[in-house]
Amino acid sequence: MPPITNANVASLTKAIESGNMNISTGSYNRMRSPSRYIQPSPERTIRGNNLIKPNVVNNNTVERVSNPTVTFYSITSIPQSTNYKDDECTTSETSMNESRLVNGGLCGLQNLGNTCFMNSVLQCLSNTKPLLLFCLKDDLDNYLNTSTTSVMRGILMNEYANLIRKMWLIPDGRSVVNPSSFKDTIGKFAPRFTGYSEQDSQEFLRYLLQGLSEDVNRVRQKPVPITIDEKQEERMKEKDRAKASWDRCLRYENSPLVDIFAGQLKSTLECSYCQYQSITFDMFWDLSLPLPRDRSSTTLQECIQLFMSKEELNGDEEPMCTKCKKKRPCSKKLSIQKCPEILVLHLKRFSQMRGRTKLNTYVDFPITNLKLGHLIDVMSESHDGPTPTYNLFGISSHSGTVYTGHYVAQCKHPFINEWHEFNDASIHLISDISRIISSNAYVLFYERNKS
Ligand SMILES: [Zn+2]
Repeated sequence: MPPITNANVASLTKAIESGNMNISTGSYNRMRSPSRYIQPSPERTIRGNNLIKPNVVNNNTVERVSNPTVTFYSITSIPQSTNYKDDECTTSETSMNESRLVNGGLCGLQNLGNTCFMNSVLQCLSNTKPLLLFCLKDDLDNYLNTSTTSVMRGILMNEYANLIRKMWLIPDGRSVVNPSSFKDTIGKFAPRFTGYSEQDSQEFLRYLLQGLSEDVNRVRQKPVPITIDEKQEERMKEKDRAKASWDRCLRYENSPLVDIFAGQLKSTLECSYCQYQSITFDMFWDLSLPLPRDRSSTTLQECIQLFMSKEELNGDEEPMCTKCKKKRPCSKKLSIQKCPEILVLHLKRFSQMRGRTKLNTYVDFPITNLKLGHLIDVMSESHDGPTPTYNLFGISSHSGTVYTGHYVAQCKHPFINEWHEFNDASIHLISDISRIISSNAYVLFYERNKS
């Protein structure tokens, strides 16, 4: 593994210290992330690779960052469930009679003052079937993590489940729920959401998923740090290394939310001088896809390929090559090692470059049958099981500009399969589904095709 540089350690430590320890997200992001998101996985710290480097903006077409920030923090131990295999569904079904839910979920959310970003994400998550079924479990209390490995000690999950229950179990379905109690609670977990200013729906999603995951983390005691024998690791088959890395992540964070949303990325760093390849694996919760900067339209598949494409690291970005024991120009390539059950794709419409700007690029995306296996160099060769296809079921959409905009959600009902647009308190049926593909689409929610 290439060693971590002192500068990287220093900046990382600073990020951790200055960051809000309540928060960590496992988002895999090629874009600049606020430092408070950056928390190292314990594994990364132990292994000391050099992925944590200053973000770099490439002047060509896309904003690229040499180091995806990958995070999983949570103080835990003893993994219990979570299958690794790609072809297995890991979410346990609820005893809830699904026919009861046919009339549920078509429920507006009151806007509490610039809270459309929150409502939009809540509607997408409300229609995320495995999460919904988990929230409706009769014995949900048994899953709540009231130990010190969760900042909120189960309160956030409890509050979220209460909201979801109101949205799904109220008798006449079509009503409006006031999410203020939930909002107060998420504000305690992530104070930035305390006020009533407009926020980014994807950032909100990350905080929320992280908070919920902690609250049902199966790991209730801080795990003992382990040392990795890198020599031994290098002799292992790539597939086994990926599995070992995943298991190490689960020592810290292992929850139904991980079962539902987490996937694994492989990162290959190759020295251009000696061709030595350094391979690392990271858990991700969503992928932040760059959009081509020079075009008015593109496809989702193209954005995914752009995210996974080989990136040259030169000049200041040069990593240390373990073999050469020198900084060398390297290429870096990402690929998917393990596909999540729910794949969240974030279209990087907002840029921090020269003030905040928004790209209104039209991204054409498949509503059914997104086939990752058909995309060149997107899946790792050593990934486990058949490559799944994905169907869209939710969109968090943003209309307007950076300064004045509005979020809505388009979601497919998980039991009747009809699409509706959720605009705060109001809901309407979308009869022409092709209309959901628009340049407003911002965060896309895909579910694995089970058939
Ligand atoms: Zn080298």
